[in-house]
Amino acid sequence: MNDVPHRLMLVGGAWVDAASGGRIEAVDPTSEELIATLPAAGAADVEAAVDAAHAAAPGWRDLGWARRGALLRELARRIDAEAEWLAHLDVRDAGLPLSGARADVTGAVAEIGYYAGLAPEARGSTAPPAPGTLSYTVREPYGVVARIVPFNHPFKFAAGKVAAPLATGNTVVLKPGEQSSLSALELARIAADVLPPGVLNVITGTGAAAGAALVAHPGVHRIAFTGSVPSGRAVLHGAAEGIKHVTLELGGKNPIIVFPDVDVDRAAAAAIAGMNIARCTGQSCGSTSRLYVHADIAGRFQDALVERLARLRVGDPMGEDTQVGPLAFRAHHDRVMGYLDIARREGATVAYGGGRPAGRPRGFFVEPTLLTGLDDTMTVVREEIFGPVMSLLTWRDVDDVVRRANDTPLGLTANVWTRDVSAAHRTAAALEAGYVYVNGTGRRPTGTPFGGWKSSGLGKENSLEELVSYTREKTVTVTLW
Ligand code: NAD
Repeated sequence: MNDVPHRLMLVGGAWVDAASGGRIEAVDPTSEELIATLPAAGAADVEAAVDAAHAAAPGWRDLGWARRGALLRELARRIDAEAEWLAHLDVRDAGLPLSGARADVTGAVAEIGYYAGLAPEARGSTAPPAPGTLSYTVREPYGVVARIVPFNHPFKFAAGKVAAPLATGNTVVLKPGEQSSLSALELARIAADVLPPGVLNVITGTGAAAGAALVAHPGVHRIAFTGSVPSGRAVLHGAAEGIKHVTLELGGKNPIIVFPDVDVDRAAAAAIAGMNIARCTGQSCGSTSRLYVHADIAGRFQDALVERLARLRVGDPMGEDTQVGPLAFRAHHDRVMGYLDIARREGATVAYGGGRPAGRPRGFFVEPTLLTGLDDTMTVVREEIFGPVMSLLTWRDVDDVVRRANDTPLGLTANVWTRDVSAAHRTAAALEAGYVYVNGTGRRPTGTPFGGWKSSGLGKENSLEELVSYTREKTVTVTLW
């Protein structure tokens, strides 16, 4: 215990501990060993971080987009130079397979570069001509942005999601998920050598203490949150008093509708790829966890799924060949296992998996799992599990399956597989989701707006919309006399 390192937070360019001395623990989900302790920030630490961000805000804003963009590109270059180490850290801290962790770092580097280049597009316009006046708008940064991110893609979210607010001239207080904060502190270390002090502050701690204090802080007018629906709701409540601009990227229970005309093998492969089992053990907001397959091909489809699930290589996430690691932390593992118990109790059939993988007595592992014999009312079909658990359901009538797919408070992504172009477009139009994939799952070209409908969120990210959302529009009317 004594030789376990204690990490510090970056506030105003200085490394600091929590004022209260409180700590949270970083546990390796593969070995279940304690690998570090981190400060458990509270209201006093949030106060200091917001103060530091405020002090740095005018200087950062006045640097202008071109200079800010150059610094962000330099940040991306330095991250890239340390990519292997950063990926290893996420493997250790969050159990991501090395291939997935590497892809996360690469994705973050690309996202920073994208927003560095896009920054000048956050601009104003002129209003319709009116004799004797000139009206124009400008887009100004909010000042301090609170960026709260979840545990599942630790480095990707920490680094990628501060890019847009920084590019538009805001300073940021970042709070990573308390279960996997180590790589966000490495981001802080790298950024401390590139960005002026106070421009990026990274605090660690729980959502209930650090997160809630950040949301409630009167000096924060813009909050961008990625996480679960209940936490998103709490953030909205917390932000209501100060009438703050909030965007939310929340959970999903994403349907995939498979028509009878598809290439079964290809669509089955896509259904598994869409689950992100081989990227982050299914801990993905966009997971294709409700699979509606036409009854005529359901038998063959199930066989293809089982065959492919059996081929996934589950094991030590540090292994070059491993595709599936453990879940990120114990409580989450127990939660996912709890859903499998509920599924059995409610009468579901476990067609594949359903327990701890053989030969893995330690670690927060869950087998990739396929559930069948389901109906739409069952808990596992209705609630986000956020693990490697797929639910296979069948359909015959397209209008009915669209109704069933939409019969959820969530609306993050949806997927359609068919060779019939009219059916594809008609179904995509009828689905209530912020992002629809046709004949593909999860592949999103850079710059495509991503964000949920209904309870899955507010606002769009990964696009010009996200960039602009970190600015507030000001209109100026000049009377000409
Ligand atoms: P979570 O809501 O428990 O925590 C997310 C972050 O919010 C953490 O940093 C946490 O400390 C903080 N937090 C929690 N309560 C808070 C509060 N009241 N005020 C302020 N901050 C608070 O989510 P999680 O378990 O870390 O992540 C999984 C969830 O995130 C899933 O529901 C998943 O679908 C969702 N998610 C969504 C997206 C997306 O882009 N839509 C991406 C990734 C994950």
